[in-house]
Amino acid sequence: MTIKEITNYLEMIAPGAFQEGYDNSGLIVGRPEMEVTGVVVCLDSTEHVIDEAIAKKCNLVIAHHPIVFKGLKRFNGRNYVERTIIKAIKNDIAIYAIHTNLDNVFRKGVNTKIAERIGLVNTQILAPKQNLLKLFCFVSTDKSDVLRAKLFEAKAGVVGETTDLSYASLGVGTQKGSGSGQVKLEVIFEAHRKNQLIRLLQENLSPDELVYDIVKIENQNPHVGSGMVGDLAKAMSPLSFLKKLKESMRIDCIKYTRLPDKNVKRIAVCGGSGGFLLRHAISAKADVFITADYKYHEYFDADGQIVIADIGHYESEQFTINLIFDILSKKFPTFAPASAESRLFKTEINTNPVNYL
Ligand SMILES: [Zn+2]
Repeated sequence: MTIKEITNYLEMIAPGAFQEGYDNSGLIVGRPEMEVTGVVVCLDSTEHVIDEAIAKKCNLVIAHHPIVFKGLKRFNGRNYVERTIIKAIKNDIAIYAIHTNLDNVFRKGVNTKIAERIGLVNTQILAPKQNLLKLFCFVSTDKSDVLRAKLFEAKAGVVGETTDLSYASLGVGTQKGSGSGQVKLEVIFEAHRKNQLIRLLQENLSPDELVYDIVKIENQNPHVGSGMVGDLAKAMSPLSFLKKLKESMRIDCIKYTRLPDKNVKRIAVCGGSGGFLLRHAISAKADVFITADYKYHEYFDADGQIVIADIGHYESEQFTINLIFDILSKKFPTFAPASAESRLFKTEINTNPVNYL
């Protein structure tokens, strides 16, 4: 199996196009055609994890956080990033990161996992993205069913769980000397599929028929975006909730703001540094906002409207390792842990750089 087969599958779940502008998800070291000898899944692909991959005879490290965010200019081994990259290249180890694209998906995303662990129901994306476009194309009536089916196959007409969405209207298309019955087809699609859909139209319509419009729409995509909000099955006192949270996320320490005198039920979450979502959490009427990386002055922003609960960055995302591991072991059973030949591992190294006393 090649790296590309594995990463293509991961990107069907979390397309690279869903990552944030500052991110660097994707194959950071290695060639997509490399045959995979084994995979180590981790949160941070540190030097120690590369050593672990070498020891386990695995040549692919799949991390949540990209080890490289910005361009590197020198490779002198003066910092941990350079040392990790040098070690990976020297030992023919590939490094792949699936970061904010995995944060931003509703199904099988980082926040889905957190919501699942703390038992949230009625979950929704907290800050949905506007990444939808609309295609209008014109096709002769006899060809419209075939074209529509091909557009659906290419994942046009999908919003969240709903598929095969389209609208068709009958009309008359003219050009000098002729006029004929035509169907105007309308489908919405996620922006990253644009080139693929244009190619599909080019392949299926004659140059005379190749007339289409693509427009940006302001509708939000309910299945792509940051953070998640949902409800506890039963309201509970804020302190009991925080105690339960410690247990379900297996954490030693929570930093939190003033607790209200009423029960809490609606909970917003964002794995990692989610402070930028506080306004969204308040607008979504969340009682508690669980995230990490809060600074002292930022806690004041809770302002009696919500409880901010900072559970630590590593702690909030630690189960992302299980998430990626489960996705891969289900799809590629030869990697599965039950197999004697298991070549899929969760890292045994705790890469959290923060300690508590
Ligand atoms: Zn993170």
